[in-house]
Amino acid sequence: MHLTILYRGSLISCNYGCEYCPFAKRQQTAAELAIDKQSLERFVNFISQHPQHQFSILFTPWGEALIHSWYQQALIKLTQLPNVNKAAIQTNLSCQLDWVEECNKDKLALWATFHSEWVSRDRFLQKCLNLDKKNVKFSVGVVGFPNFKTEIAALRQQLPNHIYLWINAVKSELPNLSPADQKLFQSIDPLYELNTNHYPSFGHSCRAGKSVISVDGDGTMRRCHFIKEPIGNIYDSDWEAVLVNQPCSNQTCHCHIGYVHLEYLKMNQVFGSGILERIPDNWVYQECLV
Ligand code: SF4
Ligand code: SF4
Repeated sequence: MHLTILYRGSLISCNYGCEYCPFAKRQQTAAELAIDKQSLERFVNFISQHPQHQFSILFTPWGEALIHSWYQQALIKLTQLPNVNKAAIQTNLSCQLDWVEECNKDKLALWATFHSEWVSRDRFLQKCLNLDKKNVKFSVGVVGFPNFKTEIAALRQQLPNHIYLWINAVKSELPNLSPADQKLFQSIDPLYELNTNHYPSFGHSCRAGKSVISVDGDGTMRRCHFIKEPIGNIYDSDWEAVLVNQPCSNQTCHCHIGYVHLEYLKMNQVFGSGILERIPDNWVYQECLV
């Protein structure tokens, strides 16, 4: 079996303070962070103890994980395991990057988000170029608020064309976006429009729950991050038995980490093997109209 796992432990803290984010500048106690570390180590052990299955893993922390050594160590260990195809993580890229040299870089991928209020473009860009030099696969993302557009356009111009820059559509802001702003975002990210939709999902077939699951620090399994009802626990002996085809029970799905698994959208044809880290297949940036 090949199983994709979206792991989100008990980390809920971040070194940045983005005003739209509930985890902005939140801190956790040493005891709370120790629980997150233990849970993560248990999860990595679980993966290594199931060599009969292949795994792809995306860490989707609430907060910034890579500033903590245990997430770096987890990626080093996971990418070295023969039964792991991919280990990817969402990050603000504020961490040091020396640890990536200890990973199997063929299996490592980063989903890096640029927050122009908290880091200069030059500094972020240097991190990107460093990753590129180290042959690490990564996408770069930004949040699509119109007031960030100058920084977004400048970043696209400075990034090498083979690095994909995605723009997360802020659904609540869409009515306030001018046609010119929409055109600008679409010119920077040709897949921007895909991210502006609430896709009908109720009753539709979705890989989440069968070959993709969400797992928390206690091992609780859910179909995805958007359906809260647990379906089992990976630390139970019969954990595989709950993985079944079932139609989606939510009305819509609007987040990349969810809708890419909706069968009818065929997003695997768009993203191919880069679906977890959000890198389109054969990506090269062709055109910049700005
Ligand atoms: S970097 Fe990410 S987790 Fe941290 S405050 Fe900003 S949006 Fe939130
Ligand atoms: S369509 Fe979205 S909400 Fe429904 S099961 Fe799939 S990932 Fe979850």
